Amino acid sequence: STSVYPFGGKAAHDDPRQGDKTVTGGKGANLAEMASIGLPVPPGFTITTEQCLAYLAGDKTFDDSLRAAVASAVAHIEQSVGKTFGDAADPLLVSVRSGAAISMPGMMDTVLNLGLNDETVEGLAKTSGDARFAWDSYRRFVQMYSDVVLGVDHGLFEEALEITKEDNGYYADTELSAEEWQALVGEFKSIVERELGEPFPQDPQAQLWGAIGAVFDSWDTDRAKIYRRLNDIPHDMGTAVNVQAMVFGNMGDSSATGVAFTRDPATGERAYYGEYLINAQGEDVVAGIRTPQYLTKDAREAAGAKPLSMEEAMPDAYGELARVFDLLESHYKDMQDIEFTVERGKLWMLQTRTGKRTAKAALKMAVDMVGEGLIDEKEAVRRVDPMALDQLLHPTLDPKAKRNVLTTGLPASPGAAAGRIVLDADTAEQWSQRGDKVILVRVETSPEDIHGMHAAQGILTARGGMTSHAAVVARGMGRPCVSGASGVTIDREARTLRIGSQELKEGDEVTLDGANGQVMLGIVPTVKPELAGDFGTLMTWADKLRRMKVRTNAETPEDCRMARQFGAEGIGLCRTEHMFFDAGRISAVRQMILAEDESGRRKALDMLLPEQRADFTAIFEVMTGLPCTIRLLDPPLHEFLPTQDADFEELADATGLGVDHLKRRAGELHEFNPMLGHRGCRLGITFPEIYEMQARAIFEAACAVQKESGEAPLPEIMIPLVATKRELELLRALVDRVAAEVFEEQGERVDYLVGTMIELPRAALMAGEIANHGEFFSFGTNDLTQTTLGVSRDDSARFLAPYVDKGIFPRDPFVSLDIDGVGQLVEMATERGRATRPDIKLGICGEHGGDPASIAFCEKVGLDYVSASPYRVPIARLAAAQAAL
Ligand code: PEP
Ligand code: MG
Repeated sequence: STSVYPFGGKAAHDDPRQGDKTVTGGKGANLAEMASIGLPVPPGFTITTEQCLAYLAGDKTFDDSLRAAVASAVAHIEQSVGKTFGDAADPLLVSVRSGAAISMPGMMDTVLNLGLNDETVEGLAKTSGDARFAWDSYRRFVQMYSDVVLGVDHGLFEEALEITKEDNGYYADTELSAEEWQALVGEFKSIVERELGEPFPQDPQAQLWGAIGAVFDSWDTDRAKIYRRLNDIPHDMGTAVNVQAMVFGNMGDSSATGVAFTRDPATGERAYYGEYLINAQGEDVVAGIRTPQYLTKDAREAAGAKPLSMEEAMPDAYGELARVFDLLESHYKDMQDIEFTVERGKLWMLQTRTGKRTAKAALKMAVDMVGEGLIDEKEAVRRVDPMALDQLLHPTLDPKAKRNVLTTGLPASPGAAAGRIVLDADTAEQWSQRGDKVILVRVETSPEDIHGMHAAQGILTARGGMTSHAAVVARGMGRPCVSGASGVTIDREARTLRIGSQELKEGDEVTLDGANGQVMLGIVPTVKPELAGDFGTLMTWADKLRRMKVRTNAETPEDCRMARQFGAEGIGLCRTEHMFFDAGRISAVRQMILAEDESGRRKALDMLLPEQRADFTAIFEVMTGLPCTIRLLDPPLHEFLPTQDADFEELADATGLGVDHLKRRAGELHEFNPMLGHRGCRLGITFPEIYEMQARAIFEAACAVQKESGEAPLPEIMIPLVATKRELELLRALVDRVAAEVFEEQGERVDYLVGTMIELPRAALMAGEIANHGEFFSFGTNDLTQTTLGVSRDDSARFLAPYVDKGIFPRDPFVSLDIDGVGQLVEMATERGRATRPDIKLGICGEHGGDPASIAFCEKVGLDYVSASPYRVPIARLAAAQAAL
């Protein structure tokens, strides 16, 4: 199949593979598409991702057919622009850029001005009539190529440049003359020769193939792998390479380069948004070396900035750009993120892609675009990443709280973040692993900082604009970010910093407000999120489109209330053991566990009954009219055992038993493998009085709430860790008996169901007969994953990361369901359960119930509901709607 696709000029753009991002990458596919709808795209070609994979799988060489295809594609560029690659008189120069199907800041980005050498630079000087420009371009090329292709430390070049500037008393790069740039090129080349032991490549063909190989290799760097792991991008996609004729934004004051969004990516506001620099090359904008200027007059005025906006400085090129923005939005029907260059007044498009956005902006744009008639409600629901909602559901800074503002930077990514200052990515990761909340403070960030940005609550940079690396990545990750805070100076050696006039050190606490760019001393209090507005609108659309119900995992009235506000339609899992750990009753629980016999246990359970009844009453009052799945005690008794001497002494006082006796008893109860030990329904089988007490508390509470409010919840009593039908049969009989007793005593009855968790492989296999004894199944996919894979859910964090990196699991199976394996058990149990009992209620209550990919699977097998922790409820509502589309 075709390995190289030309675009622009007279290229055909007629092979559907060229528009397929998995073949030509996002950048390549969109360049071809822009060219095909008549937008000004410099001609070029794309080498497919397949070629990258073949290169990496083989011996990292290029075969003859690829070389031939590239040669003819270079000829396509040459014919289109009327210049020849390597021609000393009038050379064609190209850019070489990576471009995977999903954009990845972890990879090699760009080499510009490729094709320059000691001869062609003279040609460029003549044809452009600007020797200074030619030599500046050449030194940029040597610098970039040496850094990203040859692996020479870029600091060495910066140093040489700084020295030249210092020697001449210059402040800005623009002050250097042609001769000075030429001298620097000489120095740069000798740096390369010194570092590598061979000269800088002069042959344009060798340069081109070097850059192509470097792009391919960049797919396999650690940085790229980490980025893919953090973003759930598969490792087997490969990257495409885009080679494109250079256009120059640095040919004087009628030239410029910029990046732009068709709407504001932070707020979603319908306004062109972006930055540009006159007389500059693309990298200058993103690198944060010069401060970019505003695109529009409105934005400039709003910021109170002086340098003219593009709208004012280059009205013609700006007018053309605005026309292109509108064309792109109506073509792609989504907000676009664009790179452009103006060369001597003429606009060129270098890239377009669907723009990354904050959750807030995603919501606003989706809702607005429905209003504008650009998309329909279904598409709006499809547009918003459910996981991104997380950003909106979390607190923002309390507007009434006092703020000790140290400095203000750019509001690069919204949200409030507070924590301890850390000055590098590794420290951020270490401190956050030990449980600290951290704020990563850097001069600017680079792809090497990704893991630290991920570990941090928020990111603060001293340099860089709204489109700097820090800003773009933070928005994508949903981390609040303040960028370009020039009031921040960092002393890396001393590990101290100054923010405004305040001296701080690593470990001190600060708060960031990503919505307005403020950096504050200390921890500023927060307030609850706003659930109305665009969020409310989108969720209403989602609710209309979904089939599955969404419940919550909750065991306190506060969590239940919050989950209801988030739209929960019931409780899918109330873990009653959480109530047992309560400080006021752990002693009674321990007395129960350590009792020698049934009567000892009953005595302790009598103390717990009123407490449990009060727990359930409080929950039922919040959940009236809704189903509430209450799970009877599940964890190994082992977990409740006292360990501290003080605990034993307290127990001795309460029971009149000696400390030694109690310690001996605790020793007897110690388990080697508690997760597979005395837990779940095994507790109910061996100590039925525990489950009796809990069932009694549930029914008494339900009757009381019904009496009081006239409306009861629907208790669904759930037996955990069932492996056999007989376990469920015995325990269901126990629950029914207690129910009858309570109804008799109370002169009141409530509806209820009895069912089981399916969380052991045997239960899934035997679901057909188990369904005879239960009215519902709830898939406990945490334990089902643990027992199916034979991987401890409590210990796996230590070894699962390499499993994901090596592609053994596509994602952590405790986060996203192992659909191929564990999924089969879920599907089988669903079918077998329904065969026995067609109206059996089916749900999921493991962590996977809040994971969009797992929710899609639940929709496929036809579960009735998913259950997720309160903050995940809106995520699950949206994901369930997307799954149903
Ligand atoms: C499960 O195992 O999936 C489950 C929901 O129960 P727990 O996490 O409490 O073991
Ligand atoms: Mg479980």
